[in-house]
Amino acid sequence: MKVLKFGGTSVGSAERMHALAGLINDGAPKIVVLSAMSGTTNALVEISDALHAGQKEKAELLISTLEEKYREVAAGLYGTENARNKARELILTHFKLLRSLAAGAFTAKEERVVLAQGELLSTALFYFCLEEKNIDSALLPALNFMRTDSKEEPDMEYIGAHAAAELAKRPGKTLFITQGYICRNAAGEIDNLKRGGSDYSATILGAAISAEEIQIWTDIDGMHNNDPRVVEKTLPIAELSFDEAAELAYFGAKILHPTCILPAQMRNIPVRLLNTMQPSAKGTLITEKSTGDSIKAVAAKDGITAIKIKSGRMLLAYGFLRAVFEIFERYKTPIDMITTSEVAVSLTIDNTGSLDAIVSELKEFCAVEVDAGLSIVCVVGSLTAEKEGYALKIFEALRNIPIRMISYGGSENNVSVLVDAERKKEALIALNKGLF
Ligand code: ASP
Ligand code: MG
Repeated sequence: MKVLKFGGTSVGSAERMHALAGLINDGAPKIVVLSAMSGTTNALVEISDALHAGQKEKAELLISTLEEKYREVAAGLYGTENARNKARELILTHFKLLRSLAAGAFTAKEERVVLAQGELLSTALFYFCLEEKNIDSALLPALNFMRTDSKEEPDMEYIGAHAAAELAKRPGKTLFITQGYICRNAAGEIDNLKRGGSDYSATILGAAISAEEIQIWTDIDGMHNNDPRVVEKTLPIAELSFDEAAELAYFGAKILHPTCILPAQMRNIPVRLLNTMQPSAKGTLITEKSTGDSIKAVAAKDGITAIKIKSGRMLLAYGFLRAVFEIFERYKTPIDMITTSEVAVSLTIDNTGSLDAIVSELKEFCAVEVDAGLSIVCVVGSLTAEKEGYALKIFEALRNIPIRMISYGGSENNVSVLVDAERKKEALIALNKGLF
């Protein structure tokens, strides 16, 4: 069994849904994980925001606009009156639910139900589309097996057992359609895996049922060795290790959800990134094995803030770093990069929600400087410490760019440098020239 995930644009219009039906109809057993149609989750977030703000009329208008869009899609998607009627009925049910949620008291719990409607709609509409084409398939309700535990981590054992039970309920079927993104939480309530979480759904499910392979289908031919939005002539990377892919996803490669590699890596299931617009292209294969010493890719992460912390007492002192880290922990603020000298530590964060509180606590025992508007540029590959020359190559390429921080040696897969956001583009281009 393979697990294939398709994003919002792959189900974003009638044409794309028809193309998708053709693409997956090859007889091989598979579970197809779908996102909401493109734009839908954003619209549902907007509806929720309006309701949180008590703007019922605005929410009502947004709901009607979204419903109209679905009616139009359904009108163009099907050839038979039977399928159109089923779709109409489905859309009616989901929008009735949205309106009833909008009418009552609106809390985080209702919001999560609102956000779940996109994937429920896209999968059912696509299922009707397959039915109409006489492509035999079954709809698997993700809410019956996707579940997170009390730490908001996927409950792999539960998911494995319940997904297997759902599959067993449908003997003779080989093609299954299910929802990405949505799940139940430890309390059994409808919840989600956060924005972009459909990739994560696919790798969690693939790992939980020990799939033969997990495929993430997008509109680009795999992970590229640099940011195609910034640099011309980037190239797809044929093979990556799990560690390399995770570093790239975390540091800005938008093609993959940052934590989605982990489940596949834990169960050692290959992940293939493929392109719906070019289905025969090789894409990127992500496996356990590393393909030898080399620099594979460059990525960047924007919106970085650096915090320089200096304590007179750090000299020969211990416990200083613990005191610093504890503050970040208390404010649930992850640290991306860190460098230390004998008397100071510099670190970076991208979530500045608690910055003021963190800084004021730090100031109780050290001098603090904050610098915003920075970018982390990160070079990823298998950069084994025994091999000479990587650092030289990287810094030679960056020779004209002021570097605020350097982090190397944290893992064998990454060298990160911190630069002013305005110099990011230049840094990516320079590295492209110097490294590939
Ligand atoms: N529909 C969700 C979102 O837009 C999940 C996903 O597409 O991966 O974030
Ligand atoms: Mg995505």
